[in-house]
Amino acid sequence: MISKPKTMEGSSPRVYIKTFGCQMNKLDTELSIGSLAKRGYSFAEDENDADVILLNTCSVRDKAEHKVYSQLGSLRYQKERNPELILGVLGCMAQNEGEKIFKRMPHVNLVCGTRMFSKLPELLEKITESNKQILAIDEDGEVNFDRLVTQRQNQYSAFVSIMRGCDNYCSYCIVPYVRGREFSRSVTDIVDEVKGLVDDGCKEITLLGQNVNSYGKGLTGKVTLATLLRELDPIEGLERIHFLTSHPKDMTREILEAVGELPGVCEYLHMPAQSGSDKILKKMRRQYTSAHYRELVEMAKSIVPGIKLAGDFIVGFPGETEEDFEETVKLLNDVRCQNSFIFKYSPRTGTSATELIDDVIEETKKSRNNILLELQKRISTEENKKMHGKSVEVLVEGESKTNAGRLIGRTRQNQIVVFNQPEGINQAGTSSSLSGKLVNIEIVDSTDLTLFGDLRDFSFNEMAH
Ligand code: SF4
Repeated sequence: MISKPKTMEGSSPRVYIKTFGCQMNKLDTELSIGSLAKRGYSFAEDENDADVILLNTCSVRDKAEHKVYSQLGSLRYQKERNPELILGVLGCMAQNEGEKIFKRMPHVNLVCGTRMFSKLPELLEKITESNKQILAIDEDGEVNFDRLVTQRQNQYSAFVSIMRGCDNYCSYCIVPYVRGREFSRSVTDIVDEVKGLVDDGCKEITLLGQNVNSYGKGLTGKVTLATLLRELDPIEGLERIHFLTSHPKDMTREILEAVGELPGVCEYLHMPAQSGSDKILKKMRRQYTSAHYRELVEMAKSIVPGIKLAGDFIVGFPGETEEDFEETVKLLNDVRCQNSFIFKYSPRTGTSATELIDDVIEETKKSRNNILLELQKRISTEENKKMHGKSVEVLVEGESKTNAGRLIGRTRQNQIVVFNQPEGINQAGTSSSLSGKLVNIEIVDSTDLTLFGDLRDFSFNEMAH
């Protein structure tokens, strides 16, 4: 039952949550919205209308934290105008900075770490009652995954957390320090959550974890990502299953075979390579070689026809020579990712890579970044051209915001498709009735990032998928 927050009987306090960073943070925001809604909170569209402003933060780069501090600085004026306003910092930066946030920003009321999200309603009530600052960053706190399935951003597509934390300690990464040790949820809990989402109209799920390939560690019996996929695939009404992020050192044939065999599991792999140089991979503590990465990609392509690969690359890591960078260029050229997330290295305070000398000058980092971006653009453009004349299955999201009068959706390989609505059908009627449906689109044109096509054979029967 939904009850009003005790201290705010008679009114419904409005919460505004601003989310920074990755999908995991977006999911945490969704879970928080669910737990707050259960306690009677409502939600403001604009921070100026809110009684509670929460910033769900990212710590992956120093720059991300500076951004939040600057935002907190601006919110001081809003707090001066409305002293009742509750201001909270959630997530990775809260975990990482802790008490320091209160020292730098004394107008902040709450600092709530990555394992304390489910306690948010109680924490906010305590602040209202006592008017005291609260620091909640319990490192061993049990993460509660309880979810209000009806509270989500997208009606047809949802993220589901299958594990938390990371045990890998890559030398450049802050995640293990702010998200804690790896912890896998039970298969039963995940299956129940997914069934609840599907009953509520969800067609597509993305299983989330920092390193989903090591899912099952610590659970009783032989539980792996592959066994989990086999439990989820038969759920009636669940059309698509994605998972991310994959770590090359934990990718197995068993997982790839599950992707190849199970009709609901999509042919898409987000598997960061980070570098093509074994010397740099070692310094990054990635625990695989460039040759192993290539073998995995070959295996994936042979077991799962049509699979598309997304990669992450870091350029300008300490000690990266021109030859090391050339090996990265060669790796990307050979494996031909569909898209990549390419970053210039910057030292992250608190990680072991800060002990290395950041010796690649900014100009070189920029130039290597641009070379890799250009290469990725060329590969994506060429790969997308190969799709012309082909028919692809698209899950329709709705009207395109940038292409007036057209609809937008995604393929099973996570490619964006913009397509013309069928002739003779009223535009508003079509977009609302096609949203969340699977349709076949013939691809006629493309850029590096988008496929364009037509929905030609259209009937209302086909829409009732
Ligand atoms: S696998 Fe490495 S990069 Fe990924 S979250 Fe863990 S430590 Fe960070």
